[in-house]
Order: sequence, then C-alpha cells, then structure tokens
Amino acid sequence: MEATTFVLFGATGDLARRKIYPALYNLFLDHKLHHSFSVIGLGRREVADEAFQAMVERSIRDFSRREVNDSASVRGFLKAFRYNVLDVGHTEDYLKLLQRVEQLEADMGGSPNRMFYLSVGPEFFEPIALNIKESGLGAAKGWKRLVIEKPFGHDLQSAQELNLKLSEAFTEDEIFRIDHYLGKPMVQELDVFQQTNPVLHALWNNRYIANVQITAGETVGVEERAGYYDHVGALRDMFQNHMLQLLMMLAIRLPKDSTADEVRFKKKEVMESLEPLEEADVQFNVIRGQYTAGTIEGKPALGYTAEPGIPADSQNDTFIAARLQIDDPFWKGVPFYIRTGKRMKEKSTRIVIEFKEPLKQNSSAAEDDIPNLLVFEISPNEGITLQLKARDPQHKGKFKAMHIDFHTSSIEVPEAYENLIYDALHGDPSFFAHWNEVELSWKWVQPILNAFAKNSVPLYHYAAGTFGPAESDQLLAENGHHWWLDS
Ligand code: NAD
Repeated sequence: MEATTFVLFGATGDLARRKIYPALYNLFLDHKLHHSFSVIGLGRREVADEAFQAMVERSIRDFSRREVNDSASVRGFLKAFRYNVLDVGHTEDYLKLLQRVEQLEADMGGSPNRMFYLSVGPEFFEPIALNIKESGLGAAKGWKRLVIEKPFGHDLQSAQELNLKLSEAFTEDEIFRIDHYLGKPMVQELDVFQQTNPVLHALWNNRYIANVQITAGETVGVEERAGYYDHVGALRDMFQNHMLQLLMMLAIRLPKDSTADEVRFKKKEVMESLEPLEEADVQFNVIRGQYTAGTIEGKPALGYTAEPGIPADSQNDTFIAARLQIDDPFWKGVPFYIRTGKRMKEKSTRIVIEFKEPLKQNSSAAEDDIPNLLVFEISPNEGITLQLKARDPQHKGKFKAMHIDFHTSSIEVPEAYENLIYDALHGDPSFFAHWNEVELSWKWVQPILNAFAKNSVPLYHYAAGTFGPAESDQLLAENGHHWWLDS
C-alpha cells in the first residue's frame, strides 16, 4: 500500500472510538499500515491535534483487543493523527480540509491516496460526497476511495436515489460499503471451508442438506436509540443487510481462487435466484414480532412499548423470522430460515446446517432428535462444530451426539473492522457490499416493508428472554423442521 491520507468524518463519534481507532491501532502493531499513513479526524467542535490524539489514545486503551502497554508504539501510532474542524454543510470547511491534506501530502511525496471514511449518519452521505467532488478533494494524485457504513437507504427507492447521488462523485469501484458482518473471520471462512474440504464440498447441496438456519439474537432492547429504532425495526436494521449477506455468503459456490469480481458476481446470482415474495404471501413466510415484558439473564425487562421514547401503540418489528428459497440447482428445495431480534434469550449469531437423514423413518423417535449438524458460531464466540450421531458406549443400543469442535480466542483473531479497513486500504472489495447486492436485497425485502406499512400481517408478541414468538417455531414445523440449539 502507498502513502495514504485517511480522512475520517465523524471522528468524535461512537463508531470511531469503539471500532475504527482500535482497528487502526492493531493494524499498526501488525505493521499493516504504510509508514506514511496519516489520519485527519473531522468534527464540528474545535479540538487541538494533541487533544484529539489523547481521545484516540483513550479509545484504544478502552477498546483495543490487545493490551496497550508499550508507550513507544502508542506514541508512534498517535503521531499519525491530526484534527480539522468541519461541518458537513459548510463548503468552505472542505477547502480548508483540502489545504491540510495537500500539506500532509507534500511531506509524504509521491502520489498519495485519499480514503474518505464516513462514520456519520446516512443523511450526510450525499452532501459529503458532493462536497468532496466540488472542493477538489476528490482529485487525489493516487487513488481515492469512499467507505460508508450502513444504513444504505431506508427502502428500495431511497437506496437507489442515494446510489445515484454517490455515483456523481465516486465510481462503483471506489465505493466500499461496509457490512461489518462480512468482516467477521467466521463469515469469511464460510465459502472457503466448504470449497477446500472435499467432505463438505460433496455434501453442500440439496441432496444432503435438509435446511439452513441463520440466527442473530440480541439480548439488549432499544437502549438509547428508541427514536431511531422505532422507524427502522429489525427488518431494516438487521435483515435487509446483515442477514441477507450471511445467506449469500453461505449459499455462494465459488471456483477456487476466485477474484473479488467473481465473489460479488456469485453473490448477485444468489440474490437473483431467491424466490421473490409477493406481498400477499408475506403472512405465510414471514413472522413479525415485538417483545413484551419478560426476564433476561435473571433480571426483569420492560416490554417494547413501555420503553422510554417508544409510542404505546407502536407496531414496530423487534423480531423477524422468514423462510426463503433459492431456486438454483444446488439449493432448490432447501429452506433457509432466518431470524433476528432484540431481547432474545441469547446474544449469539450462528448458522446451523441440518443434514438430511435418509434412514430417519427406520429409527426411534429419540434418535431422530440427534441430527447431523454443522454449526458456524459467528459471534460472540467464533468456531465450528460438527455434530454427529454416535453409539452411546454407556447405554447399549442407544445413541448420543458427538461433537467435533474448533473454537478461536478473540484476542488472536483480527476484529471485523481490522479486516475491512485493511482490505479497503488495499483495494480488495471481496467483503464489501456491491450496489447490486444492496439493490437486490432491498427489492426482496420491499414487499415485506409494504405489508408491514399497511399492517396487513399480524404482529406477534414474545416475552423478552425467549427465542421469539411461537409462530416462528410454527414456520419451521410446517416443513417438519425446528430451530436447533435453542436451550
Ligand atoms: P455518533 O452519533 O456517535 O457519531 C456521529 C458523528 O458525526 C459525531 O462525530 C458527530 O460529531 C458527527 N456529526 C454530526 N453532525 C455533523 C455535522 N453537521 N458535521 C460534521 N460532523 C457531524 O454515531 P456513530 O454511532 O458513530 O455512527 C456513525 C454511523 O455509523 C451511523 O451512520 C451509524 O448508523 C453507523 N453505524 C454505527 C455503528 C456503531 O457501532 N456505532 C454500527 C454500524 C453502523
């Protein structure tokens, strides 16, 4: 990687402090940043460079996955950080920023690159991109790139409009849309694991797989984000982006040593093969849920509509479960069940693949409860477990579940943001959402948004601290399946 200026909008925000600075620090420790790498943090308040560096130091002390105890390397890291005042709407601030960037670049020499990272609310994406273009900031000597966070649009139309605006200032190749689930090591492992292990590769199709279950459960409620969340809900906040990305990553079949373009082309194909849902069919394939009062980890929890800032008559979805079908030769007939929600029993993101059991009808009911499962634990634990059925040596004639386990320690493994920032700096878009994927995801979700807006599907309730409404279990029972690992 050549000398690069990392221009960070929203430098005083939560995401920057919790994720971006710690990620940069760990990349620095691993010698993965160029020696002429510099960061210009931007915010509305006047902050001196030294005060900004002190804030970055606090952030890495609080949030870095590795201990911060070597003061020489901390000083070396902080040297790269500068701060500039910038209000998103003030055109003259961009011109001052350009002067500062050019000063830094003059010191670097060569043809430095510019990476613009937008860690700000989505309402600012468009004005920032256009101001970058008009101020001349976009005319880098080397490459220029734009990194943006979710949410990308509020529905299909707003996403299309936003993309059109961004494309006036940046080409698709220059836009890196972060979906931080794609940076998680286990998610990056999904296709490789299947592709490089002939045992799994041979089984990865509708002949052997009964169904796929993707769960992302949170135990927290709306926290301080009531105003935001009540207009968004689980469908927009989690399902349209993270959950559909997990489905794509699991379902793609890639040739060996695929390029980034091939990865993204294959993901697009998966989305194009998803059987579309008509608005009238939403009620049969999607479960909309909202939590009521309950108990989480032994403590009482309020119901959603009793949370501060949430209207008493809110119909917002805090839980979604859906049944999806991919109409291609590998997956036809294999239901993909996806669920995500707040105030669930367990904080966990995982994918469970249930294998078919051809001899099932010959075995006893108890044995039927021990399926062959392949489990990808994505967060907070990271690991892979294969559950097989084996003879129980202590009870003659009986069977038990045998587990082959592999788990990693979170200290050793780079965080999602480390992987993603590194890839963006190196121009590798494999694990970023291409516009095609974003648009197709919104297209698939739009009939559900319409049905929810019209209130034409039921809103089911579930007690906080459970795995969602009973109707979500029913969705699987209709196909003779049930959610595994709910305990
Ligand atoms: P935040 O509210 O903590 O920070 C927003 C930043 O924007 C602050 O630095 C603020 O000073 C700056 N800002 C606001 N108005 C501005 C203006 N007019 N001019 C210049 N700067 C301005 O938000 P956050 O949690 O850091 O999230 C940033 C973005 O990342 C949001 O789009 C959010 O949806 C997304 N995101 C956040 C997380 C997370 O974990 N926090 C996760 C995924 C996505």
